[in-house]
Amino acid sequence: MIIDVHAHCWPRADCFSPSFQADARRMRLSPVNLVTEYEAYRDGTGGEDFVALVFGGKARLTGVWIDDQDVADYVARDPDRMIGFMSLDPTQHGWEAEMRDGFERLGLRGIKLLPMYAGFYPQDDRLEPLWKYAAAHRLPVLLHSGTTFVSGAPIDCTLPRHLDAVAIRHPDVKIILAHLGHPYEGETVAVIRKHPNLFADISALFYRPWQLFHSLMLVHEYNVWEKILFGTDFPVTTVAETVAGLRGLGQIRIDRFRLPAEEIERIIHRDALTLLGLARPGPAARKGGPA
Ligand SMILES: [Zn+2]
Repeated sequence: MIIDVHAHCWPRADCFSPSFQADARRMRLSPVNLVTEYEAYRDGTGGEDFVALVFGGKARLTGVWIDDQDVADYVARDPDRMIGFMSLDPTQHGWEAEMRDGFERLGLRGIKLLPMYAGFYPQDDRLEPLWKYAAAHRLPVLLHSGTTFVSGAPIDCTLPRHLDAVAIRHPDVKIILAHLGHPYEGETVAVIRKHPNLFADISALFYRPWQLFHSLMLVHEYNVWEKILFGTDFPVTTVAETVAGLRGLGQIRIDRFRLPAEEIERIIHRDALTLLGLARPGPAARKGGPA
């Protein structure tokens, strides 16, 4: 069983502005299709049983907008394996109503934020209702953390250090910093080590093996392996290629340094649902409804 804490539902290319789509050519060395297909996700798992946390994204500043209804519809295609998260852009009027609607009506079980893409700081006072709502309803919050290919996104908003202030104020909220906060992994390690409910995912990193090897050496030396969660950032990468990429890191030796292969296996099979307080999706979880 693989728990992928970072998979996207991007239903149409026009969810992204033309300038975002042009900037996205810098995402990976080869082009990434910005439209997700459930079958492509499932086929990319290599036959492993899986549960995926799925979200779209909302960031008016840089031209990203996926309605939460699209995410709910996508998750309904395989409700035994997918858990939907809502997305919120707290710079936009009406975000608090969207938050309540996403949880109460659509049954979405967590929140995805894009601070840099939308141009806000996660510790900003205007987000207090969000962190309180997440705490009250036990909604994990996953933030894009780390750099971007998008020119108009202010990089300072993404720095992992900002989550320190949030976690001090809201220690019960489960928070995931995506992509290990690349290339600010040192800050990510600093905050996930301090705070029991701060985690990081390793999505969309294996294709920079030099960097990821060193990042995971930091994880090793600070002994925060148990805070690292598996993720793909699908459609950017698939489950099978991420598993292969991570295992490849176990082959690297630099002088006397190497990554423990058993810790890499533990990332691949980590029970992120339990760590995040999420029920396994399926008939039993659905019967309970959103309350
Ligand atoms: Zn992503």
